[in-house]
Amino acid sequence: MHDYQALLEVLYHDAIKAKNRGSIATYIPELAHIDINNFGIHLKTIDGKDFGIGDYNKPFSIQSISKVLALSKAMELVGDAVWKRVDVEPSGNPFNFLSLLEIENGIPRNPLINSGAIVIADILVSNLKNPKEDFLSYIKMITNDDSISYNESVAKSEQITGFKNYAAANLLKSFKNLNNPVDDVLDFYFHQCAIEMSCSQLSKAFYLFANKGKCLQNKLHISEQQAKRINALMLTCGFYDEAGEFAFKVGLPGKSGVGGGIIALLPNHFIISVWSPGLNKKGNSQLGMHALQQFTTHTKRSIF
Ligand code: GLU
Repeated sequence: MHDYQALLEVLYHDAIKAKNRGSIATYIPELAHIDINNFGIHLKTIDGKDFGIGDYNKPFSIQSISKVLALSKAMELVGDAVWKRVDVEPSGNPFNFLSLLEIENGIPRNPLINSGAIVIADILVSNLKNPKEDFLSYIKMITNDDSISYNESVAKSEQITGFKNYAAANLLKSFKNLNNPVDDVLDFYFHQCAIEMSCSQLSKAFYLFANKGKCLQNKLHISEQQAKRINALMLTCGFYDEAGEFAFKVGLPGKSGVGGGIIALLPNHFIISVWSPGLNKKGNSQLGMHALQQFTTHTKRSIF
């Protein structure tokens, strides 16, 4: 048994001394105000123990981390029908890259790049009665926390500046891979990205992927096979064009967001979340990647 708390403390003290913290994502103007010195890390074990240090209870913009939660809800609702509209291959390109979408006839490479997540958002808009309310209720339920909410200013900020997301949605629409109006789908997508959660809340929400599809309340949301597939997608596609690097250095399925959060997990063992808003050149949390690399190196716990 590892002394996880002592290890998190070592990672934290290393991180707060770091000279190069990367830079804050400024392309979403509302995210530009975040203090780059925030750093939090939280670990939840499958048997329910919690360890944390730093700003691990402070909510931040989960951004692309929401794509995994949206995918799980879409798979719960429509099952394998998802794969008629989105592929499962890594793109090796930035999250908002559009050229491949045109070459591949409007079928996004995977559900964790923006175009794929926009198709997933379309599925949720079609299949949920009150899409934004119902999706938030799902997240509150799996996290067992009613305080989680959308940050409306972040959603608005993305709507005003999301030109590439509009381009992706229009391209999808032109290939008939979007059933709802572009504005409705993007309103949902911008809101899902603007959900705010802390590291400890994220660890709870992602428990179901480490626990064969059952959330903390022991309710089955997705099958064991679907949980396996989502973990495989996180491993191969969860870090933009740095998924290879993350697998190489950390060796866990995970997902990052431009708010500086990273969630990673070892199926049947633990979920670990880290937040440090400064990003590296590929858009992943600079200190977050480093802390997770140290964590799996010290504990020797990765899927490899
Ligand atoms: N809402 C962001 C966008 O669509 C998500 C980017 C990210 O976290 O990767 O640009």
